Amino acid sequence: MRVRTAAAELAAYDRAMPNPSTPFLPAPGGSFAAPGTGSSQTASAPSFQLRPMQVTWEMTQACDWKASHARAAARAARGKREFSTAEAFHLIEEVADMHVPLLVLTGGDPLLRPDLFPIVDFASRHSVRTSLTLPPTPLLDAGIIAELKARGLMRLSFWLHGSTAALDDGYWGVPGCHRRTLDAIGSCHEVDLPVQINTILARRNLHDLDPMIELLTRLDVALWNVFFFVPASRQQAQEMISAEEHEAVFAKLYESSKRVHFQIKTTEGQHYQRYLLQQRARESRGRMTETDVITCAPKGVNDGKSFVFIDPAGEVYPSRFLPWSAGNVTTQSLAQLYCESPLFVSLRDSSKLKGRCGRCPARNVCGGSRARAYAMTGDLFAEDPCCAYEPQLNG
Ligand code: SF4
Repeated sequence: MRVRTAAAELAAYDRAMPNPSTPFLPAPGGSFAAPGTGSSQTASAPSFQLRPMQVTWEMTQACDWKASHARAAARAARGKREFSTAEAFHLIEEVADMHVPLLVLTGGDPLLRPDLFPIVDFASRHSVRTSLTLPPTPLLDAGIIAELKARGLMRLSFWLHGSTAALDDGYWGVPGCHRRTLDAIGSCHEVDLPVQINTILARRNLHDLDPMIELLTRLDVALWNVFFFVPASRQQAQEMISAEEHEAVFAKLYESSKRVHFQIKTTEGQHYQRYLLQQRARESRGRMTETDVITCAPKGVNDGKSFVFIDPAGEVYPSRFLPWSAGNVTTQSLAQLYCESPLFVSLRDSSKLKGRCGRCPARNVCGGSRARAYAMTGDLFAEDPCCAYEPQLNG
């Protein structure tokens, strides 16, 4: 059955999927050692244990143009270990068998894969809803966008790292990227293809939040995904915004969400869910306490918890920002790696969390960014250093 593009369906998915992980991953650092005895997994919702809500597959790391902040691994030539078309089809069949609600195709520049259209088509014919994330590639034109739509693509996703050409082009290090992205968004509207915008929020563009929200309103996008910067090394930590600045951004996103027509979600900003629950309690005017609201909330998405990232060679990660592989889909099934690998099982076990995250009443809803905790401390289960919340000792 061919899947039709349905904005309402996607909006429903977006509401259910608050924190999809995504872009630039530090180089993989190895596989995960089994963490001793098995996990109780009492914190994970059953559906999270059976299947992820989103699988993101990095189709290629090839990229024809230079980007100063892009992954160090980005390169012009396609890698020898990249999936063949047959392997790509097999992966899509696995995603379909697991009933994963969304497959995100990303790169590198996915347009450098000559089999991109057949892959989108194959996913569509297998009822796999597919979104494509593109860099500001000069290869994209209105004809390709129309063809992607015709093949069953559900949504096209672009990066905008600032409301002005100076900010956005400055991020990529290539003049003209901003203009190209705005033109591509216009072409999507012409064929009624929903648009998602991704923004990496860091110190360099923190001042640009209001103009970004204005721009996205004018551009009539369907979804804004705000990625809270995760440093690839401690040297990059100064680009990370502070815990208090995270709270201020949450307040801005929350206020904006009441008046804009696009969905807003966060990536590596898991504590936005805790902020939203606190707001709900405050706005209930005493009918619900914070504890009531947090206790009743559904489990939240986090690294390895409802999310999977697969690199071009088939290595399976809990997040694009966590350089730990659970194994490879060429030798084990995706379902096995997601459901049974010690890495994913551990990450779904909130009893392993430490520090404030470990004693936080919101640990099952939030749990903090595991990628940021790892980047800053080397410990997958350390507290998220960018959260301002102080749980009570008996929380
Ligand atoms: S302390 Fe940890 S689990 Fe609690 S809200 Fe902050 S980041 Fe989330």
